[in-house]
Parts: sequence; C-alpha cells; structure tokens
Amino acid sequence: MHTPLCGHAVGEPLDYAKAAQVNGIDIITFTCHIPMDWEAFGQTGTRMQLVDLEHYMNMVRDASVEAKDFGVEILCGIEAEIYPDDSHMESMDIILSNYSFDFVLGSLHAHCPSYLQWLARNNVTSDPAKIDCYFKHLIEGVQSGRYDSISHPDVIRTYGVVQSFDPSAHEAIIREFLQAVTEQDICMEINTSGLNKGDRLIHPDPLIIDWAGELGVKLTMGSDSHEPRRVGEHFDEIQPWLRSKGFTKLYYFRKRHRQRIEMPEAKD
Ligand SMILES: [Zn+2]
Ligand SMILES: [Zn+2]
Repeated sequence: MHTPLCGHAVGEPLDYAKAAQVNGIDIITFTCHIPMDWEAFGQTGTRMQLVDLEHYMNMVRDASVEAKDFGVEILCGIEAEIYPDDSHMESMDIILSNYSFDFVLGSLHAHCPSYLQWLARNNVTSDPAKIDCYFKHLIEGVQSGRYDSISHPDVIRTYGVVQSFDPSAHEAIIREFLQAVTEQDICMEINTSGLNKGDRLIHPDPLIIDWAGELGVKLTMGSDSHEPRRVGEHFDEIQPWLRSKGFTKLYYFRKRHRQRIEMPEAKD
C-alpha cells in the first residue's frame, strides 16, 4: 500500500493499519513508489520525492509503534522500478543500498513515459512485440537480484499500452519469466487492484497464476491500496481461490528475509 507522499494516495499509515485490523489482517507493508531522478518515470503526483524519503521512513516507523498496540505489524517496503537501461537506475540503486527496507517490490510500469520512450526508440511497435519485450525485461529485472517480489506482473495489459493481452499467445516467454522467479528464489505478487480497473481481472492473469502454480512460484499478496478502505480488498475471495489452485502458502518479507504463512482459508 501507499501513502500520500506518492502524490496519488490518500490516508495516513495508521488509517491503513486500522482498516487492516477491521479486515482481520495483522501484517501490512507500505511500498511507496521509489524516488527516481529521471523525470520520464513520472514525478510529483506519481512517486515520492527524494526529499520525502526520510520522512516516509519515519512516518511508517512511528505508525508501526502505534499499530502494535492494536495488533497490526507495519513493515516498511518500497516499490522500485524495473527498467532495461541501468544508466537510469543509479540513483535508485543508491537508495536501495542506503535505506533498510523490509521489502523491495520490482515493477515495470510499462505505461510510464520512460518505457514508452524505450519502446519507440527501439522500434517496438506491435502489441505482440511489446508484450514479449516487457516479459524479457521482467526476466532481466528478476535476474538483477534487486527485488524480493515482482509486482503486478502483467500490468502492460492495463492503461492502453497494448490493445489486447492474451497470455496463451506468449506462453513461452511468460513461463521463462516464472522460471526465472523460481530460480532466483524470489516471489511474484498477486495484486488484487487489477480487479478494480481496466479489464477487472486479477494481476497476473489467472492463466499465468496456473503456470506459476505448476512451476512452484512463491507468492506475495497485495491489494496495492492507495486509500485505506481498499486494504485487503478481494482477499476473502482470492485466497480461497488460490487455495483451490493448490497454493497453500503466502510470503511476506521482514528486513528482506522471506517469511512464510499459511494461505488463509475461506471465512464463514
Ligand atoms: Zn501508485
Ligand atoms: Zn505499481
């Protein structure tokens, strides 16, 4: 979940923790969008600014002390970027090595001008080529060792970067991505915010989740809440559904160490 420091989320960290408590969730992780120095990644309104980073860490830490009193553990993570050109990642890498986050998500925001420019510069114009490129870059992201989990792994299908997204037409490269996640021994995120936008489908597509199950991919789970009332949204339907697909565990990270929990059962 995010905080107002991202510029497009509302609610104080403690409000998210209270919402979690109401929804029976006892651990939440904040993952504000990491500051990036190249403006093509989006600035004010899209992501936290570098001058706010210290404040973010303190704000989340202060909330975690208060939330402990009502039984919710707050962890402090960050949503970092995946991008094919490392020369634009230097400032981000400095942040990742200088701050001790509990959790680092890796996201390739394909709709950001940064990626749209990359596609244009490299003459990647057709939908199938864009999708293959996107997953190729996710694989490189996985192998970079920067991230604990890959967030909203098929977000390219949202926000109009491609007109249609049929995972079965890209099965080989998507399986290669999932295999890389297993080999690197990191996680993939099940992100329920997809159910609220675009094609109203979970991230990633259910077919990709089936392949992930076959390959033994470990899952983190997030509602990607940008407002407190969305904390844990759809978990009550999605967790039993994941169980029906054979997933029995979920993972979260504390001080970058993976923690395992049982996938919650359906609530009565
Ligand atoms: Zn956001
Ligand atoms: Zn994101």
